[in-house]
Amino acid sequence: MKIEIGTVLEFDLPDVMEGKGSTPVKLIFGKDGISIQPKGMAVYDGDYAPILIEKQDDTIRLVYWGDINQQEPEILDMSGALESSRHLVKDDYEDGVCGDCQEPIPDDAMYGEACVNCGHVWNPVAPCDDGRGPGE
Ligand SMILES: [Zn+2]
Repeated sequence: MKIEIGTVLEFDLPDVMEGKGSTPVKLIFGKDGISIQPKGMAVYDGDYAPILIEKQDDTIRLVYWGDINQQEPEILDMSGALESSRHLVKDDYEDGVCGDCQEPIPDDAMYGEACVNCGHVWNPVAPCDDGRGPGE
């Protein structure tokens, strides 16, 4: 299904906690992006949606007014979420092999998945904060 520009959808956003009800939300598909307007929320200078997902200069941005008393929105540049920015698991492991069984790590291995050979779970390598290297 392809949604046409100008379409407005409404739905009840359920609370993530059981028994807390829901909030009516409008999704507005406009030429400037997708606007999200929860009932009772607006921006500084009018009854406009306080959340906008837009594309600018080939970048997806989340523009939001988290405070109705502030004129300027917060802008979150989403370019860090690009698949092309993903670190490869194999690049985090010495010589691109499993630390337990030494089998090559597949190019498409994802963090949280396990080595099919030995069951080792791939985890991002974080620098040790005690000044020592990994495993020391
Ligand atoms: Zn392994």
